Amino acid sequence: MILNIGSGEDTSLWYHHWVGDSPIYKIPNIRIPDSKAHWRVSHIIKNSTWDLSQINHLLPNYLCNLILATPLSSITTRTDSLRWTLDKSGSFSIKSAYHSSYVPKNMNCTIQICWKKLWKIGVPFKYKMLLWNLCHSILPVADILARKVPGLDPICVRCFESVENHLHLFRDCHSSSTLWSMIFQFQGQSFDLEYNLFYSKNWDEWITYNLSGSSQWKIIFCIAIWHIWSYRNKAVFYSKMGNSSSFYNKFWVDYKCTNNMGQMDKEMQCLKKERRWLVLQ
Ligand SMILES: [Zn+2]
Repeated sequence: MILNIGSGEDTSLWYHHWVGDSPIYKIPNIRIPDSKAHWRVSHIIKNSTWDLSQINHLLPNYLCNLILATPLSSITTRTDSLRWTLDKSGSFSIKSAYHSSYVPKNMNCTIQICWKKLWKIGVPFKYKMLLWNLCHSILPVADILARKVPGLDPICVRCFESVENHLHLFRDCHSSSTLWSMIFQFQGQSFDLEYNLFYSKNWDEWITYNLSGSSQWKIIFCIAIWHIWSYRNKAVFYSKMGNSSSFYNKFWVDYKCTNNMGQMDKEMQCLKKERRWLVLQ
């Protein structure tokens, strides 16, 4: 996915993928100044044209040219939007996602899962997209950002006890492990998961283990990681830390809604089949 720039207000200049082959922070030898680390793309747009005067010394020439060649909307209120780059239409298609993810070209993914099954998990696209990023360990967690941004502290801002890598963020940080414990307490017995295995595996094994579970567990897993990521972002960007009960309740409401929607879809499909059968009679 790549972001089409409208106003540029919703897109991080460095950490979102909006130009070139990857987010800018991933380009080797890029050094992001602390004073500009929070910049949005809108910081380099003036009067509906690109203004690179404050960052062109930080970027390679080819990238500056690439940005200048990117068309901008004259409608300044247009919001930024996602575009699927693997299909000419710009719209997402399961087929193109599957073919691209089956043989990842630029990512060193060692997780052994069936990508086709990942895209078939019964949750809306936003959850699957986060899961796909998770499987490739490419989310901008503090541990990864600290390797790119001089002086950035890799410590987890939710607990200040450990480096924030993917496994810490999604399983081991106190608020995350509390959510998983509550899920196990209220839901876990029916999913044949072994708690000790769940908490003892390394990152790759942990992802593989969870995606080898039942269909219902995969739905729970997808929704839980989405809420953990959202909860973490609120802590990082807005210094907001909710309590564990409301954290679990939000997850639970989302899970029930997603499940009900999935059930309604199935019932609609059954109804359509029945109608077709009646017409034929
Ligand atoms: Zn933590």
